[in-house]
Amino acid sequence: MPAEFENEPLTDFNNEENRRKQSEALELVRSRLGCEYDLILGTEKLKSGASFKSYNPSKKAELIGTFQSADPGQAARAVDVAAAAFEKWKRAPVQERANVLFRAAQRLRARRFEGNAWMILETGKTWPEADADTAEAIDFCEFYGREALRYAERQPLTRIKTEDNDLRYIPLGVGAVIPPWNFPCAILAGMTTASLVAGNTVVLKPSSDAPATGAFFMSILEESGMPPGVVNYVTGSGPSVGNLIVEHPGIRFIAFTGSKEVGLHINETAARPRPGQIWIKRVITEMGGKDFIILDEDADLKDALGGVISSAFGYQGQKCSACSRLIVHEKVYDSFLPMLAEKAEGIKVGPASNPSSAMGPVINEKAMQSILRYVEIGKGEGRLMTGGRPASDEGYFIEPTIIADVDPAARIAREEIFGPVLAVVKARNFDDAVRIANDSEYGLTGSVYSRNRKHIDRAKEECFVGNLYINRKCTGAMVGVHPFGGFNMSGTDSKAGGRDYLLLFTQAKAVSEKI
Ligand code: NAD
Repeated sequence: MPAEFENEPLTDFNNEENRRKQSEALELVRSRLGCEYDLILGTEKLKSGASFKSYNPSKKAELIGTFQSADPGQAARAVDVAAAAFEKWKRAPVQERANVLFRAAQRLRARRFEGNAWMILETGKTWPEADADTAEAIDFCEFYGREALRYAERQPLTRIKTEDNDLRYIPLGVGAVIPPWNFPCAILAGMTTASLVAGNTVVLKPSSDAPATGAFFMSILEESGMPPGVVNYVTGSGPSVGNLIVEHPGIRFIAFTGSKEVGLHINETAARPRPGQIWIKRVITEMGGKDFIILDEDADLKDALGGVISSAFGYQGQKCSACSRLIVHEKVYDSFLPMLAEKAEGIKVGPASNPSSAMGPVINEKAMQSILRYVEIGKGEGRLMTGGRPASDEGYFIEPTIIADVDPAARIAREEIFGPVLAVVKARNFDDAVRIANDSEYGLTGSVYSRNRKHIDRAKEECFVGNLYINRKCTGAMVGVHPFGGFNMSGTDSKAGGRDYLLLFTQAKAVSEKI
């Protein structure tokens, strides 16, 4: 058995050696920009008739790479190739499957700065944000590898004298893995490795905003001894290629993380059986959030300030767990807000490749326009305290934005903006704050800053979110420590990085033999 799971430490970028390694890796990756990538179906690398490009959001004109838009025939073939590989992979000993993950963790460690660099350049992650993403991918490999071994052990059943009974977790079949761009290594790696270590095979369709990072992880799997066909890399747009894969009768399950709209669409599409389909597709769908932080009247405001800033503006507010609703007790409202605005104004926005940037760009032009539209809506719904403007033309930069005096029913307090825009709502008292926090169709993360034990206990009982934090930020869930997933329209609460997660990728078979 491997040693007990421990989280991968983060890289200290105050250390000169680490800074040098990260700079060198950025140079290395820059020298590889602009290449054309193929589809990977088993042992075959294929071009298609159409392609699309991925660009650096910090530097709009910098081409990251050109990627194939798989055609319908290629999307269907990917499912067939995965189905053929499943026949062998499902019988591979669990230790062999887990070893692929343990080796992948080693390869990620060895290529850590390179992996970070792909995300810095392709998705505008600052150095520490990119590094945390790679560390989480390593954690998923180490954690799910151990989990697969645990699930393979003899399961506790009520024993009877007349039979030998056994419960085995067997794989499902071919899965469609459809990740978002915002954790382009960690979430992609998490859903893919959970699938394959449980004995399934995968058609992986990375986000069109982060296909190079997906290709990086594919190369990690290939170096780790994953047999061809176990994970197939199929790029193309979500509404065309993604949809075709989801609809395919050979797909047994879909592991999706992304927006509410797409998640609901996939759930509906997958529910309809197609000719030749002999199962009900399982859908694991983790979606958006409208996450809150409550500041109680006796909260430690200095501590809360750091927590709010990092939850609201870390990775430009583009985390499903990002704080986008700050709910402040009226007694501390007027003293806290100026401190918050001042701190936000001090955040340095700039190219993600520059280690002094604390905030990089948002992901693309469409996101930028949508976020700026929300700022305009917000100006009508509240008082713009700071930010709200593009920060530079070279990339998709937006100033950290705070809009105060927002009604809980306002659009900017209810809809997921997915950018650096924080709506601040005043609460009359703690009861009111909890009511406002829960008045949402989402239920992903939330945080409460309070020194009042009764209030803390009430929050633990009443705040309806999948991940609740007390006196700390509402982002930064750690594998194994904070199993992650949300309620209501935030998804199926699959608790990634928790002990229940692998169950979703298996089915249990009970076998009884008469003695
Ligand atoms: P998105 O829904 O636009 O896309 C997600 C993936 O779905 C992409 O790979 C995309 O190509 C694909 N897709 C799009 N349309 C499709 C279709 N019709 N059929 C099949 N696939 C399709 O989301 P995004 O912009 O990539 O990511 C941001 C969203 O993800 C936010 O809403 C965020 O809150 C959410 N998110 C949630 C979690 C979580 O754990 N709950 C984690 C990260 C991100």
